[in-house]
Amino acid sequence: MKTQYRCEVRFDRMWSDLAGVGRARSGGYRRLAWTREDSALREWFAGEATARGLTLSTDRAGNQWAWWGDPDAAGPGLVLGSHLDSVPDGGAFDGPLGVVSAFAALDALRGRGLTPSRPVAVVHFGDEEGARFGVACAGSRVLTGALDADRARRLTDADGVPMAEAMARAGHDPGQLGPDREALRRIGTFVELHIEQGRALADLDRPVAVGTGIWPHGRWRLELPGEANHAGTTRLADRRDPMLGFAEVVLAARAAAIRHEALATCGKVAVAPNGVNAIPSAVTGWLDARGADAARVRAVVADVEASAAAHGGTLVEESWTPDTTFDQVLAARLAGLLGNAPLLPTGAGHDAGILATAGIPTAMLFVRNPTGVSHSPAEHAERADCLAGVDALTEVIAELTR
Ligand SMILES: [Zn+2]
Repeated sequence: MKTQYRCEVRFDRMWSDLAGVGRARSGGYRRLAWTREDSALREWFAGEATARGLTLSTDRAGNQWAWWGDPDAAGPGLVLGSHLDSVPDGGAFDGPLGVVSAFAALDALRGRGLTPSRPVAVVHFGDEEGARFGVACAGSRVLTGALDADRARRLTDADGVPMAEAMARAGHDPGQLGPDREALRRIGTFVELHIEQGRALADLDRPVAVGTGIWPHGRWRLELPGEANHAGTTRLADRRDPMLGFAEVVLAARAAAIRHEALATCGKVAVAPNGVNAIPSAVTGWLDARGADAARVRAVVADVEASAAAHGGTLVEESWTPDTTFDQVLAARLAGLLGNAPLLPTGAGHDAGILATAGIPTAMLFVRNPTGVSHSPAEHAERADCLAGVDALTEVIAELTR
């Protein structure tokens, strides 16, 4: 009982330590890669590792590791963790819940007096959201080699600052950036706990689920050319207004998603010259499409491409992540361990997906999100459910390090 209480106090303390970092006026968070906020989060992680006597290291991709035991002598080990960065105006739980829960579960295990049979680590993957440089899971992708280091260094943010420069400003040598075979070799199994980004658990009345896999998903850039002109003097019949085409493409994307039972979102648009009294010369929009299988997603994209072409536009693929299936034997084992926890697929990308694709046995735990809202200041999980997540993770460590 005493141990339980101590772990809850530590969970609350870690949660409140992070609460002020990168807080935006909206009440949400702005924690972008290689910024001052990111440095504060890295310092926090290092502090938690040191306070527990864990061995701290940073890999060549900029991810932080805190090892309990020597993974080179007695590994490979069990790795727990997630990311700490956010989308602009993101919620408090997406990412940090997985890192805080990992430290808390380690504390709980130690409180029980259990000594794991193999090394255990907490990891903090950098730049998971890709909110600044446009590529999601950049930290884990560079680590595994799925994202080329030269390409990563050249990625630029909205102000034109290359990632290499942002890294250097944050005190990290961008020349070091690259795949890290040594760090990868140390991972025997990876388990990422994450807030659910939907409301399946709320409907099932359960606090924790085990992930089965990640839907295939991708991002496409839509270019629609037009002709800039005066909003007051150009007759409607004489206009070449790409905004009209864009509106129709957005509606076409929605109709295609319904037709193919998939998801399609146009959440970002750039208008040139972006003046109230100017007919745009060009509109650039982005499509995010996901679905239960690749064929559905490709069908949506083909329909959107046809709509874009009808308006003189083009669609360019910026990223594609195929269907990811987590280790099914491991998922079934963990679901059984956690009282027949529900098994859920997700439409959201995670570092766990990148590691699974790299051939590492990987599992995910999801913690109930009562409204399902995510990537928003309104994202929420009840404290009791977060603690149920810590308990579940503690059981998982005990089971996988017996
Ligand atoms: Zn996340």
